[in-house]
Amino acid sequence: MNIIFVAPPAAGKGTISSLLASNYDYKHISTGDLIRNEIKTGSKLGTELQEVINKGELVSDELITEMLKKELTKKENQKFILDGYPRNVEQAKVLTTLFTKLKINDYIVLYLEVEKEIAQKRALGRIVCQNCGSTYNKYFSECQPQKEGICDKCQGILISRTDDNEKTFNKRFDTYLKVTQPVLDYYKKLDKLKIIDSNQTAFTALESIKRILGVEND
Ligand code: ADP
Repeated sequence: MNIIFVAPPAAGKGTISSLLASNYDYKHISTGDLIRNEIKTGSKLGTELQEVINKGELVSDELITEMLKKELTKKENQKFILDGYPRNVEQAKVLTTLFTKLKINDYIVLYLEVEKEIAQKRALGRIVCQNCGSTYNKYFSECQPQKEGICDKCQGILISRTDDNEKTFNKRFDTYLKVTQPVLDYYKKLDKLKIIDSNQTAFTALESIKRILGVEND
């Protein structure tokens, strides 16, 4: 079963997606990562994207949909996790059309529910490997790297994301409430929506997801 995550910023989409992708052979498609990879290239488009995400706003639907289509058509027969798309009802409708075209109908939408204060702490403590993108957190003992500032997996340097400051986080959260939250209703009506409590650790949320997927004993 393919998975779509819908959640407020820093609810744990990325962390849970990585856990699922490595344990259950999913292709992890993160639109945030696609954007950050473009920024890393130093292209003109990357500079424009950086400005948008630093303001806590959404990138244009056309652009992000183009990026997503490329990834989805590349995935061949592998199951996928969509992390960060759709982020508004327009994108949800585009996705439904795209799924029809690609004959994809076995999917589930997981809403990671989290309190704003908890998400904010996660965002402000988040540190990411510059090299491989693995995520750690300064404020949670179970999420810290073994060696301060260094990635356990590739020895890369850990840095904060430019949009993980208090002002941008608040704007991202507002954008989520206004623009992304209505997506939940869209999927509820399609009977695709499941709610996951993401206020505890990523492992707790993962256990609930495994039950929904019917792989709790794996
Ligand atoms: P988070 O879930 O922590 O907010 P992401 O890594 O998913 O972070 O996204 C970072 C930023 O990238 C968003 O704040 C937004 O500006 C942009 N972005 C990601 N996905 C989309 C999308 N589907 N549509 C528009 N903008 C997007």
